[in-house]
Amino acid sequence: MKILVINAGSSSLKYQLMDMDSETAIASGNCERIGLDGHFKHKTVDGRKVEMNIPLPDHETAFELVLKTLTDGSAAVLKSTKDIAAVGHRVVNGGENFPSSVLVTDSVIEEFEKVINFAPLHNPKALEIVKACRKKLGKDMQNSMVFDTSFHQTMPPHAYMFGIPFEYYEKYRLRRYGAHGTSHRYVSHRCAKLMQKNLSDLKIVTCHLGNGSSISAVNYGRCIDTSMGFTPLGGLMMGTRSGDLDPSVVTELMQKENLSPMEMEEILNEKSGFLGVSGVSSDARDLQEAAAKGSKRAQIVLNMIRYQIKKYIGSYIAALGGLDALVFTGGIGENSHPLRTAVCANMDYLGIRIDDGKNIATVFGNEGDIATPESKARVYVIPTNEELLIARDTQELLEQQG
Ligand code: ADP
Repeated sequence: MKILVINAGSSSLKYQLMDMDSETAIASGNCERIGLDGHFKHKTVDGRKVEMNIPLPDHETAFELVLKTLTDGSAAVLKSTKDIAAVGHRVVNGGENFPSSVLVTDSVIEEFEKVINFAPLHNPKALEIVKACRKKLGKDMQNSMVFDTSFHQTMPPHAYMFGIPFEYYEKYRLRRYGAHGTSHRYVSHRCAKLMQKNLSDLKIVTCHLGNGSSISAVNYGRCIDTSMGFTPLGGLMMGTRSGDLDPSVVTELMQKENLSPMEMEEILNEKSGFLGVSGVSSDARDLQEAAAKGSKRAQIVLNMIRYQIKKYIGSYIAALGGLDALVFTGGIGENSHPLRTAVCANMDYLGIRIDDGKNIATVFGNEGDIATPESKARVYVIPTNEELLIARDTQELLEQQG
C-alpha cells in the first residue's frame, strides 16, 4: 500500500510517498516559496532528482505539480494517482474537536472550520490541500487528517488551563493545546520499543528541539503536560519565537512602542528568540560558531536555551513522579551533543547520567542510548519521523473502515 503524506506550511508544501510494506519513502520533495517566486525539489529513493524555479501562486498549483511529478516525467514513481491508497495530511491544530486522527468527510471539514483560526498560518493551507485532493483525486480517494494537537488532548485541566477568567476559555477555547504531538508520540513509542518495554509502563520526557521546540511529559503513554501553549509561540525560547514571557512584557511593549496586535505578534514570532537576543542568527549552528568566536550575546542565548530545557525536564520529572527515559529529537536535539551535555550535567540526582563518548558519537540521523550503564534513566537520541506516523495512522483508519 502506498500513502502520500502531505505537510502544508504557510508558504511550503512538503510531501513523502510512503511504501507501507517497507515503511520507507519512495519519493519526497518540497514546494517552497509558494505565493512568492516558487521553488520545487523532488527526489526518488533510486536517486532521480528534479529541481526548478517555477511559479507557484497557491497551494493548489503546488499540489498539482507534485501529482504530475509523481506520475509523469523523468522522476515518476507511479503509473497513475490511482496507485495511491490514501493521502494523510498533517494538521497543526485541531483544538478540542479532534483528540485523534480522522478520515475526512463533509462533517469533519465543517468541524475543522470551527478551529481553523487556532493556527492562522497553517490550518487554512492544510484545508486548501485537503479540498484540492478531494477535487483532483476524486471521491474514492480517502484523506486523513493527523493533528499535531491530538497527542496532547490527554492533558488534565490543571495542565491545560491558563489563569485568566474562565469566560475566555468558554467563549474562545483559550487554553494550552501544545504542538509537535506527532513527533512526541512517534519518539515515545520508539523509545519504548528500544527499551523493549511497554509504553504503558514508562515515564518519559520527550524533547523536540528544532527551529520550533517543545518538551512533553508522557506518563504511561499519555501526555500529561507540554511546553507549547495556545499556539506554538509558548514554552521554550526558539529560533525566532520568544517562548514564555511575563504577559506584562507584551502590554508594556505595545504601549511604549505604540504597536498593533499584529505588529506585536510579528515581533514575538519572527524577531525574538535566538535571533532577537543574539542579533546573530536564528540557527543554532551559527550561534555555536559566533559564541566560539567570542560573541557574548550568542553565548547568552546558548546558556538560556540549555537552562530552560533543564528546567522543563526537572519540572516534568516532578510532574511524572519519576523518570524512565529522556528523549532528544529535532535538528538540535539530534545533532547538538554540546547542548545534550549541558542539559544533562549534574542531573545524576534525578537518575540521568550520560556517557560522553556515546553522546559525541550520536549525531546526524543516528539513533542511540547515550546514558551510562549505571544511569537509572535511559537517555535516547531518536530521529523523529512524523511522516511515518501520519502514514501509519492513515493505514490504520483505512483498515478500521474495512
Ligand atoms: P524544524 O523545526 O524547522 O523542522 P529542524 O528540526 O530541522 O527544524 O532543526 C533546525 C535546527 O537544528 C537549526 O537551529 C539548526 O541549526 C539545528 N542543527 C542542525 N544541525 C545541527 C548541529 N550539528 N549542531 C547544532 N545544531 C544543529
